[in-house]
Amino acid sequence: MKRIVVLGGSFGGLTAAFELKRLLGKDAAITVISDDDRFTFLPSLPWLVMGHRRPQDISLRTPDILKPKGIDFLHEAAIRVEPESSKVFTASGELPYDYLVISTGPYLAFDEIPGLGPEKGHTSCTFTLDHAVGTHAAWKKLLEDPGPVVVGSAQGVSCFGPSYELAYEMDTELRRRDMRHKVPITYLSSEPYLGHMGVGGLGNSKRFFEDTFAEREIKSVISQAIEEIVPGEIRLKGGAKLPFKFAMIAPPFKGVPAVAPLGNPRGFIPVDKQYRHTRHKNIFVVGVAIAIAPPEPTTVPTGVPKTGFMTVKMAKTAAAVIAAELKNQTPPSSGELNVVCIMDMGSTAALMQADPVLPPRRKSVTKKGLQYKLLKIAFERYFLYKMKHGLGNLP
Ligand SMILES: Cc1cc2nc3c(=O)[nH]c(=O)nc-3n(C[C@H](O)[C@H](O)[C@H](O)COP(=O)(O)OP(=O)(O)OC[C@H]3O[C@@H](n4cnc5c(N)ncnc54)[C@H](O)[C@@H]3O)c2cc1C
Repeated sequence: MKRIVVLGGSFGGLTAAFELKRLLGKDAAITVISDDDRFTFLPSLPWLVMGHRRPQDISLRTPDILKPKGIDFLHEAAIRVEPESSKVFTASGELPYDYLVISTGPYLAFDEIPGLGPEKGHTSCTFTLDHAVGTHAAWKKLLEDPGPVVVGSAQGVSCFGPSYELAYEMDTELRRRDMRHKVPITYLSSEPYLGHMGVGGLGNSKRFFEDTFAEREIKSVISQAIEEIVPGEIRLKGGAKLPFKFAMIAPPFKGVPAVAPLGNPRGFIPVDKQYRHTRHKNIFVVGVAIAIAPPEPTTVPTGVPKTGFMTVKMAKTAAAVIAAELKNQTPPSSGELNVVCIMDMGSTAALMQADPVLPPRRKSVTKKGLQYKLLKIAFERYFLYKMKHGLGNLP
């Protein structure tokens, strides 16, 4: 029986584990190792910040969904991977593997900017369930004692959607409460232009964001790197200062330390078209952990987003390739990565599509419509159902 270890219990890790079990059955012993024993539907975190969701509405206990499928779960952090001996090390010991699938997501590098982050700094974050719970508390405080809001992304971020969503959602909520005139909103970003999103834009996204920000009086400060943050003030590298009462700033992304030595200087791991490590043939990497070169140079570093949609596709491909290899079958072709995202805008929503992810493309769209808001709500319910029942093979 082959031993397959999966690092990470989120979009990529769980999808890969479910698919490997479905394809290999009793021929493989699969263990998922994760330092978090919950699966959280991260796209709903901005709704949690705004008070529209509670943690229990959007998270599942990982052991409860893996056990019925016959997949082992180890609630621990991997400390390092030793590819030469094919072993993963945790605080309690070592796990040998025949195949390793890495889907450890980003290391949120608050430490790269003095004063950044909710733990040691002065800003909020929306990238983990615990951070979003803290950001909801900060948002409630702002409603009691209004003042300037700065929402956006530091240099080296590769996930811009949630910051845009929060800017629109806060605008909508403040208008509903007749408080918008008391809260100036600034969108701060490392992107070279509004709507770049780390992928060189999608359709008319530049004009789309310029127009909708103008309609809502959301000011933008773009192509900026942050020098430091002190209480109530963001200091930019160019010398400008942005005052705030509430700031939600996405931190730079890196690979997580346990797997970073397998990757490039930022710790993102190079893979081939089937998500196999370029040097270690029994290691596959999916999701945010992989390295993708940016589509164009930008004055301030930005990363290419690896969305949930993309991550699930990568995980399915990696699982299919491993299963085919173990059954001596021809591996399936992986196909190009494309992206479909629905961005909530509070009172409405937008569909963003790019095929393939990076330009030049056959199709690339950003368009607004209330129907996309309903679709986003339905998708959240569908995805949580799919994960709860281990149906990793569903779209
Ligand atoms: C606020 C927000 C909104 C988003 N909105 C959308 C959206 O609308 N549409 C979309 O397609 N995508 C969206 N995304 C992106 C999507 O959530 C990510 O693409 C997806 O989560 C990536 O999955 P992953 O498995 O690569 O990493 P992650 O989801 O980050 O999971 C990493 C896993 O690894 C575990 N881990 C980390 N280090 C270790 C270690 N050392 N040992 C063991 N386990 C470890 C973590 O606990 C976690 O379980 C959003 C992301 C965020 C944060």
